[in-house]
Amino acid sequence: RQEQYRALRDRPAITRDGVRVALNLNAGLVIDLPHVEETGADGIGLFRTELQFMVAERLPSTAEQLSLYRTVLDALPGKSVTFRTLDIGGDKVLPYMRAMEEENPALGWRAIRIGLDRPGLLRAQVRALLKAAGGREMRIMFPMVATVDEFARAKAIVQRELGHLERHNHQLPSEVKLGVMIEVPSLLFQIDEMAREADFLSVGSNDLMQFLFAADRENPQMADRFDPLHPACMRALKTIADAGARAGIPVTLCGELGGRPLEAMALLSLGYRSLSMSPASIGPVKAMLLSLDLESLMEAAEGWLAERTAGESLRPHYTAYAKKH
Ligand code: PEP
Ligand code: MG
Repeated sequence: RQEQYRALRDRPAITRDGVRVALNLNAGLVIDLPHVEETGADGIGLFRTELQFMVAERLPSTAEQLSLYRTVLDALPGKSVTFRTLDIGGDKVLPYMRAMEEENPALGWRAIRIGLDRPGLLRAQVRALLKAAGGREMRIMFPMVATVDEFARAKAIVQRELGHLERHNHQLPSEVKLGVMIEVPSLLFQIDEMAREADFLSVGSNDLMQFLFAADRENPQMADRFDPLHPACMRALKTIADAGARAGIPVTLCGELGGRPLEAMALLSLGYRSLSMSPASIGPVKAMLLSLDLESLMEAAEGWLAERTAGESLRPHYTAYAKKH
């Protein structure tokens, strides 16, 4: 099987009826970089910057951050890389920065919330990212945003750092694209406003599922309890894809969901055209889409999604469709 998948490395990711799908990798450390070449991925759809902080014994300096970001961009000329700002707290703990004892860390002081409350940390990181780009495109997205206002404040921090670099005659990025991760369900109810503010949307399905179903992503008891192909989740995912299309901005998904072939197929049927996943998933997902007639699937899926039955998972529909085709 692995051999078979390796053979697909240079095949473009295009469905049987000619729809191009971007397949990107999730990464976070220098050791992840060779996987882009090995898998033939389009780029890095989620660069988890907190990993550098998690493997370190103390807070990485701005110079160390800059050096990592530059290494990443240098290693992948012409490929798109999306950096996510620090996503600490919740399940991601820094041993040297025990912030506070919290009853519910997943719902607590984490990610962009820390970034906005302690702007020094976020500013330093943003400055490192902008400097690392030096004449190249820089794509940044913010984790765990719950309101449009939080995104606007994060954006203002980037603008301020750009101004600073300009005043000090640093080379600016050729282009800066600012995106938001859709992980908190509150964004579903302000999705059009969000899509107007952002250059792109990226669904963090691990957290979005966790909060949508109120089911701890770390708890094995909860692991198979709720199906992402349940209409509740499918409609949420479609709401996001549709809002992106209405606003004319790209929508991508970077949670574990996108790396499972049947789930990836379901995502394509909702309009997703860009997925980011772990290296081992690229082969299986590409194999699925090479044999997929997307137009006929989209037609069928529209009917499944509109069904008002008992609200059962749509999985049997997708499984049957995959078997038949
Ligand atoms: C997610 O929540 O789906 C995601 C991609 O981010 P992380 O798994 O790092 O929280
Ligand atoms: Mg997340």
